[in-house]
Amino acid sequence: MDLNNIMNELVKKHPGELEYHQAVREVLESIEEVVNENPQFESAGIIERLIEPDRVLSFKVPWMDDEGKVHVNLGYRVQFNNAIGPYKGGLRFHPSVNLSILKFLGFEQIFKNALTTLPMGGGKGGSDFNPKGKSDNEIMRFCQAFMLELYKIIGPETDVPAGDIGVGGKEIGFLYGMYKKLQREHTGVLTGKGLGWGGSLIRPEATGFGTVYFAKEMLATKNETFEGKTVALSGFGNVAWGAALKIEEFGGKVVTLSGPDGYIYDPAGITGEKIEYMLELRATNMDVVAPYAEEFPEATFYEGKRPWEVKVDVALPCATQNEINEQDAITLVENGCICVAEAANMPSTPEAMHVFLNSKILFGPAKAVNAGGVATSGLEMTQNAMKLAWTREEVDAKLHQIMVDIHEACVKYGTQKDGYVDYVRGANIAGFMKVANAMLDNGVI
Ligand code: NDP
Repeated sequence: MDLNNIMNELVKKHPGELEYHQAVREVLESIEEVVNENPQFESAGIIERLIEPDRVLSFKVPWMDDEGKVHVNLGYRVQFNNAIGPYKGGLRFHPSVNLSILKFLGFEQIFKNALTTLPMGGGKGGSDFNPKGKSDNEIMRFCQAFMLELYKIIGPETDVPAGDIGVGGKEIGFLYGMYKKLQREHTGVLTGKGLGWGGSLIRPEATGFGTVYFAKEMLATKNETFEGKTVALSGFGNVAWGAALKIEEFGGKVVTLSGPDGYIYDPAGITGEKIEYMLELRATNMDVVAPYAEEFPEATFYEGKRPWEVKVDVALPCATQNEINEQDAITLVENGCICVAEAANMPSTPEAMHVFLNSKILFGPAKAVNAGGVATSGLEMTQNAMKLAWTREEVDAKLHQIMVDIHEACVKYGTQKDGYVDYVRGANIAGFMKVANAMLDNGVI
């Protein structure tokens, strides 16, 4: 495989899509060796076909605010690859959303979904709409307008979107309501649904729970556990919330959380009533981090900073892409951090990732670490198809087993000659082999 040539062609075709280029390069670098060992992939053009989405739908979303003023946002759905199952991946509503970010996320999703062992292809979508500060009625009108276009290309056996940044249970409810009205059918077309209308128990916590299950397996390879460990989390959304609960259950202490405006350091630990308090604040659709330090005086708010300067044993970035740069990574390692597990998608810059890998600390990449979210979405799809609902214990046990299996696959493909487990390589190769073989079996389509 001529990696540089493939990357040059990609950059030429899609200039300026930096996150997309970054994600493709990272995967290609780590699978280069196995591609070269399997000439059938090259002759079938597997790489060239894999790095381009199957299709991209882009549309305008006009909606009216509470004052009667009309706004126009952009909406997208990237259907990346369906070699092993229907397209599957979240919707992100955030002002930073553009095609490059959605293509990076959709590309990563292919391998993540393959790792779960469930039959799901890769996709992603979203809008540059900002739910922050909007009323529930405005969010509803936006979601309805968004679905008026999206419904044309999704379906329970075709493409099954879910939540992501800015899209939680409330937004999924509004989107599902409109889909149902347009299609006149009650099917499992979205995941992350409410429990009373097709949702799965554990789905809201699943990405955070799965992250901690995976990190627990990583720590176990060094005969370590969460017991007594300090943990830095960033963000405080769908993902960080579940992670905080599970870390507490495993005896660890979460000492930071963050928002775009800065971070909170609470040496006493962010547990119990404090987590409840944060959830209440989040429900207001406003910036939520700073008020924490006013409510709990033992905590300090550091404006405009990121939590990676705090001395901790474990770091779980749970906010957004490229939120740990090279210097942050150096600081974490110098402060004795032994494990970084990426709960957010691509939170480490390539330079930061190299710092972690070169220092040989435990480093888990997003596509393995946070796969518990989509895996539980897959379990929601299964329950919808069977028209049955599993208990909390059943779903949690399946999620736990999936995370243990993903960890095992990473160890299988990522263990180096010196015994160090390169989870980045392990996850990329394990996911790639499954998808590439399915593409070969399906012929040139
Ligand atoms: P949420 O919107 O629920 O939470 C994101 C959190 O990060 C919020 O607390 C937000 O603060 C904060 N945040 C956003 N941007 C920044 C920034 N630039 N700097 C610091 N903090 C920031 O999203 P999710 O929890 O759903 O998603 C978080 C990450 O996890 C994303 O990378 C997503 O792709 C990934 N992920 C999510 C899954 C899921 O099941 N939800 C599944 C797999 C991956 P504020 O609200 O104040 O803006």
